[in-house]
Amino acid sequence: MPAPVPLPALHASHAGSWLRDAGATRTCSRGEAIMASADTPVLLLNAPLVATRLGYPDLSGLDLLELYAFVHPARFCVPTPRGLAHALDLDEPASDDAVPALLQQAAGVLLETCAADDWVEREGAWSALQSLMRLRWPWAQVLAPHVARPEKAEKWLFSRLPEWEEAPERPAPGQVLIEEPEIEAQLAHLTGAGSERREGQRAYARDVGKVFAPRGKRGAPHVLLAQAGTGIGKTLGYLAPASLWASAAQGTVWVSTYTKNLQRQLRGESRRAWPERRADGSQPVVVRKGRENYLCLLNLEDALQGGFGGRAAILAHLVARWAAYSRDGDMIGGDLPGWLGTLFRKRGIAALTDQRGECVYAGCPHYRKCFIERAARASAQADLVIANHALVMVNAARGRDHAQRPTRIVFDEGHHVFDAADSTFAAALSGQEAIELRRWIVGPERKSKGRRRGLAARLADVASYDEAGGEAIEAALEAAHALPSDGWLQRLHDGEPYGPLEALLAAVRGCVYARDESGGQEAGYGIETEAAGLPGPVIEAAGHAQAALAAIRRPLAKLAVRLEAVVEDAPDWLDGQGRARIEGARHSLAWRIDLLLAWEALLDRLGGPADPEFVDWLAVDRSEAREFDVGIHRRWLDPMKPFARVVLEPAHGVMLTSATLRDGEDWSSAVERAGTRHIEIEPHLASAESPFDYARRAEVLIVTDVKRGDLPALAGAYARLVEAAGGGVLGLFTAVRRLRAVHGRIADRLARAGLPLYAQHVDPIDTGTLVDIFRDDPAASLLGTDALRDGVDVPGHSLRCVVMEQVPWPRPDILHRARRAANGGGAYDDRIIRARLAQAFGRLIRSKDDAGHFVVLSAAFPSRLLSAFPPGTPVIRLTLAEALQRVAAGVSGGETARTVEDRQSS
Ligand code: SF4
Repeated sequence: MPAPVPLPALHASHAGSWLRDAGATRTCSRGEAIMASADTPVLLLNAPLVATRLGYPDLSGLDLLELYAFVHPARFCVPTPRGLAHALDLDEPASDDAVPALLQQAAGVLLETCAADDWVEREGAWSALQSLMRLRWPWAQVLAPHVARPEKAEKWLFSRLPEWEEAPERPAPGQVLIEEPEIEAQLAHLTGAGSERREGQRAYARDVGKVFAPRGKRGAPHVLLAQAGTGIGKTLGYLAPASLWASAAQGTVWVSTYTKNLQRQLRGESRRAWPERRADGSQPVVVRKGRENYLCLLNLEDALQGGFGGRAAILAHLVARWAAYSRDGDMIGGDLPGWLGTLFRKRGIAALTDQRGECVYAGCPHYRKCFIERAARASAQADLVIANHALVMVNAARGRDHAQRPTRIVFDEGHHVFDAADSTFAAALSGQEAIELRRWIVGPERKSKGRRRGLAARLADVASYDEAGGEAIEAALEAAHALPSDGWLQRLHDGEPYGPLEALLAAVRGCVYARDESGGQEAGYGIETEAAGLPGPVIEAAGHAQAALAAIRRPLAKLAVRLEAVVEDAPDWLDGQGRARIEGARHSLAWRIDLLLAWEALLDRLGGPADPEFVDWLAVDRSEAREFDVGIHRRWLDPMKPFARVVLEPAHGVMLTSATLRDGEDWSSAVERAGTRHIEIEPHLASAESPFDYARRAEVLIVTDVKRGDLPALAGAYARLVEAAGGGVLGLFTAVRRLRAVHGRIADRLARAGLPLYAQHVDPIDTGTLVDIFRDDPAASLLGTDALRDGVDVPGHSLRCVVMEQVPWPRPDILHRARRAANGGGAYDDRIIRARLAQAFGRLIRSKDDAGHFVVLSAAFPSRLLSAFPPGTPVIRLTLAEALQRVAAGVSGGETARTVEDRQSS
């Protein structure tokens, strides 16, 4: 065992602070802890979290997580003392006071790794360290004696990364029929010899097979809605027919998920059907995400060469270390630790991705090594592409390459397809959106560093070659000055908007404040008002803005025509790379022209009659009373209409599957929300019931004596439930404000009892990492909002109780009101609530050995909502004291509930 590093070490939790120096650990006050960290660099773990615990935002020190990211880039580590101990194969600390010694020990192990011959991630470390030394990274001096200078000069990252290969286009898939016996045999092969034969899973797989049959009529894909109860093994159930079809037809199946967690899981499960690489080295399975998820090497190069300063520059160097070892360059939910960005507290990670569509494609020196281009090419050759709902929809709507549009699609977590379509097909003309367009056209306007370039710079060669193209660029540039620029929000505030778009936003803002009656103004929330009966100044400003937008769109459209002409009548200098770059520019131009058209249509309607297909409203987006955007929004009343046209109609086979597709036994809303009626087809329906014994493994407890609105009582109930369960509680809230208030009241008390409590919107940790921490520590509990309701897959003992603070009513905003009115009023609300309850309940029992309680702290829980829970689950209305007893006793699996409501009679 390497010697511990003899530097002082500090740990702080909700239960207190501990400092170790001179070989002894002692508790210390917050003041002492802050003083100690100011005097000498101290070892600590997750500085932003420790800073929050100490209430001292400026805290800095030698963060073990930064050292870990340097030594083991692209390796997973849960960012807690316990997680670090696991990652380094050390004993986990038994209590808070053992943590400082662990930090010293962990530092010793990591430093010794750097000195060892078998350090896997050695390449590039010495060079990176020299740069980090110049940036005064606190660890650089400590590391220097341990990282030997290599004998041969190290290649720089950008020459080390491999290039992708161009491959011929895949022919259209063959028309094949997959027979049921083949599907069953493949399923048996995937589940493995000796695994139990699950009839539900087999029937499910056979049903899925029908989706891959040849299509009988143009515009009429096979559509299957498949309810798949938790635990039936749906992933292998659809991968079995999908893998057979992909191999027989030589085609690509897209599996689309809503959560990153399921993507990760699918990547693992797909290994049963496909090897990591084919004989020719290509990948049969590819994870594909939106481009804003990937590292942009050009941005990274810029950051490494002085584009970033201070801490952001240090982050860039750690990201460069990771890039050399990353599987696919995915920064968000891939193998870059989710906690790395938050250690640096700024939007450093986002600045390293291609957020603004500024990619210069073949004009980029790193084009042949670009992670995004690599993923796009690999997916064109793949048998299975694992993607997310938004990307599948965007690709179907405006994919760069027609041949790459998905035609066989499995939407897993299919209950989210409606929401994903809702955001994908939305339009918003807001200050933030408009300024993005301005930057895309005009480029950097201040002396900002960096490579960001406007349209003129990106197409300089075209402009000098083609006069009309050059004029169009000039005209677009000129017209784009009508768009908002930096400082627009302040100018709105000061009543001094500049230009027609800012004038419109100012009018919108004034109108929203004048008409808001939601109470959100005082509470600090966002506010909104309907786009109806608008005052004259708003309509007048909309007219001017509309003209200004058209003046930008016209030259862009002309430019698109010129680019097409240049490609068709290619000049000598236009090589393959130049052509690819112009194709890229045409693609992004088409997208901006569509955007401008959508904005113009939105403004056009403001003064006239409402379009019944859409819901339009004006909004001021605020967070804790701080405004961050102002704009006009448009949603489809039924977003499945564009979904049906763009995704379903051109496809051959589509399936939506989930454990919560149906409303109880009723299929009607699932069918409605699949969009099939818009293309006049009847979907096939199938269901496989969960094999779990909910009647014996779970109990729903409805607590009747915690009064609504009584915050101290709510916090007390949470604390006592966590204590009774001994941790392992997932607490779900419908309002961030209440979540924070409850956390603030109970976190210290629970920490002192050895029950750490983490919370979304409180702890400076990303949601994925919070779930990792929760999963890793059975004593931990986690509080959160919507994202946790169905983004958490924690089988086993770490999750044994789900607590909902109240019935999850939908927020009565303008959009909800319109949809509610169009879909049956109260019954529509009930369906939404039942779906939310079913999703939340679904977190509890993830495997056949799981058991636990689902607690709702709401006396007014209507019986008509109880069908959200699986048939047979005991539902008990009781007092908090009684609930605590039951939670403390656990669900034994054999106990009979005292008062089981007869749901049939309700
Ligand atoms: S090709 Fe585009 S996304 Fe890729 S590295 Fe270059 S600029 Fe970035």
